[in-house]
Amino acid sequence: MTLPELLKIRTPSPLHQIEIAPHKEVWCKRDDLLHPIISGNKWRKLRPILEQARTSQVKHIASFGGAYSNHLHALGFCCKTMNIPFTAVIRAHPNSPLTPMLIDLKAWGASLAFVSRVEYQQRHDISYQAHLKTSQKIDLLIPEGGSDARSLEGVADIIDEVCAEQTQPFDLIVLPVASGGTMAGLIKCIAERGLPSKVLGIAVLKGEGYLEGILDDLLAPHKKQTALDYTNWSIAHDADFHGGGYAKMTMAHKEFKEQFLHEHGFDLDCIYNTKSFFALRQLMIKNKLSEFPRILILHTGGLQGDR
Ligand SMILES: *Cc1c(COP(=O)(O)O)cnc(C)c1O
Repeated sequence: MTLPELLKIRTPSPLHQIEIAPHKEVWCKRDDLLHPIISGNKWRKLRPILEQARTSQVKHIASFGGAYSNHLHALGFCCKTMNIPFTAVIRAHPNSPLTPMLIDLKAWGASLAFVSRVEYQQRHDISYQAHLKTSQKIDLLIPEGGSDARSLEGVADIIDEVCAEQTQPFDLIVLPVASGGTMAGLIKCIAERGLPSKVLGIAVLKGEGYLEGILDDLLAPHKKQTALDYTNWSIAHDADFHGGGYAKMTMAHKEFKEQFLHEHGFDLDCIYNTKSFFALRQLMIKNKLSEFPRILILHTGGLQGDR
């Protein structure tokens, strides 16, 4: 049985047209429907990592995140189903009340390791990671958000599914961006397949310059390998869009989320997709996207985080 079969992942995810603003062709790729529990873009990024873990018979996986992390939640469910012990390193006080996400993780048999803000800041440190691995007998440590070199390959599945259904390429692809892995995967795949699409990331946190740096770092090894320049992208940092920072929501966001559910019959999570869909509508209303006749917006999932 393949890993997607074991986990009951439903690919390809649906692709359908939606009306965001009049007289514009917008399609939505519904990665929120890939699985009832595993959050959409987290599955895309984890697939190559977990397939390799399965082949190499990894015995203990660990990763990092906050107390609402869609990544830890998705990974915890995968590990339970794959029968691999999992440790979640969580940036939270051990005495703080458990979030619904942490309650799920516990029920799935994960070990919860609460660490201070200061210790959490060391998560990218090689020596800290080595210490964690030996002291906890961890043989696979996955970065925060699941964004590493291999995860970009999994994100390419999105583009391949779209190309299998639509012969005409999209002019613009819009998605929310936080740790950058999903966006980097789309950029890489589009450039390597020679598609004319441009990728527009909507920053869900205050991170002008910082996010571009992360994307450059994720793309740099491929730039060297393929001699492509990967310039088919940009990130929008408007304060109206991110609303002042990660997990911050404005009144306009809240109204938009409710109205969207009412008009379209499907929900957008607060942290990521409310912001990206809101941004797309604003940009279209202000006629900023007139050079892109056909637009694709990626629904990345994340609805567990709303609980
Ligand atoms: C993590 C997440 C994102 C951000 O993806 P990155 O690859 O970290 O930029 C977007 N949407 C949802 C639902 C997520 O859980």
